Amino acid sequence: MRDTGFAAVPNSPRFVLRNATLPAVLADGRVLPEDAPDGLFRANIHIADGRIERILSPGSIGDGESFDLSGGMVWPCFVDMHTHLDKGHIWPRRPNPDGSFAAALATVEKDRSANWSAADVTARMEFGLRCAYAHGTSLVRTHLDSASPQHAISWPVFAELRERWTGRVDLQAVSLFAIDAFLDQIFADEIVGTVAEHGGVLGAVTFMVPELDKALTLMMERAANRGLDLDFHVDETHDAAACSLRAIADAAIRTKFPGRIVAGHCCSLAMQPNKEPEATLDRVAEAGIGIVSLPMCNLYLQDRQAGRTPRWRGVTLLHEMAARGIEVAVASDNTRDPFYAYGDLDMLEVFREAVRVLQLDHPIAGWERVVTRSPAAMLGRPDIARIAPGQPADLVLFRARNWTELLSRPQSDRTVLRAGKAIDHALPDYRELDDLMGSAA
Ligand SMILES: [Zn+2]
Repeated sequence: MRDTGFAAVPNSPRFVLRNATLPAVLADGRVLPEDAPDGLFRANIHIADGRIERILSPGSIGDGESFDLSGGMVWPCFVDMHTHLDKGHIWPRRPNPDGSFAAALATVEKDRSANWSAADVTARMEFGLRCAYAHGTSLVRTHLDSASPQHAISWPVFAELRERWTGRVDLQAVSLFAIDAFLDQIFADEIVGTVAEHGGVLGAVTFMVPELDKALTLMMERAANRGLDLDFHVDETHDAAACSLRAIADAAIRTKFPGRIVAGHCCSLAMQPNKEPEATLDRVAEAGIGIVSLPMCNLYLQDRQAGRTPRWRGVTLLHEMAARGIEVAVASDNTRDPFYAYGDLDMLEVFREAVRVLQLDHPIAGWERVVTRSPAAMLGRPDIARIAPGQPADLVLFRARNWTELLSRPQSDRTVLRAGKAIDHALPDYRELDDLMGSAA
């Protein structure tokens, strides 16, 4: 049975969403009076032929059919800019034995070499996309394990899925390999070719290897030659000596890299003494690097020792970055794999957890950018994730009327509109994956 959530939105080409509460940051050009510290305003949203036609004051009289939200919030669809769809949902057959980062790496490696056929990767990626779509996400960037020979399997799968999901979830992919692998010319040629051929983004995991600067320079030169953007996994560790973020910023400035650069995680920055992060963030701002924090995964993996209560939250310096004008976002990262035992690609959950873990509150207003406009900008899609006349009516409707109502419950009864129509937001059943999990399910 179709489940379209709480809102009985008219199934007609023209209708009005009455008495909606909108975050001003997500509605173009909206200036709020100073007595609206929560950053929210009420409006009627007129929808025609799948697009937002007008946004009028709540008292305005509209013609035709309507649904009264009685103050329920309306958001644009979410952007999830850092995921690992190819690793997703292997937990039942390959759990992390102790929840550590080292075990996560080793366990995924074992599963990849034993099981990651095109059929296996396709089924799990498809499952993840169905979750993301049902929760109200319209753009997903996934990293793909790209050490040889997996790149030859996973990139064609990505291309096929991108095609199949056109109009529902826009899909981007990034290569993932250890940065020093790029010093091997044969591998570098092959991976740059694969990424360029599939319209992807070049990415690697950076850590303190002796030839880090050389590898970064090479990557930036090769990416610039092919017109590729870059997206790195950076310093995902508590070790304060890890400062590859600084090396990336320096390399970008040195090579005058012309494309977009994203750096994910950057956990160690929070463990460094004060002056050091400040200098690094100056360089990051100068290089125009965007930062994505992965709070749920960081909280799970960082500062974990058996029998000892964790003392830090694992996340990077998002407040300090935002204060410097660095574009910042949060995203899902892993889902039900050895790097994170949980997760469902629900960006409202990610936002809720980010608000709590990173204290994105007092006020919350403004931070709603981190799951919408900011990641859209970083992914080269400033055209989406906003509510404005002329935009497609790709909207998420909530019963909640304000921040505390929104973030206190999972909002599982939300209604997701795509081009003005309510979609079936029933989530796929884990039982569908049982055949892939072997006896482990
Ligand atoms: Zn990641």
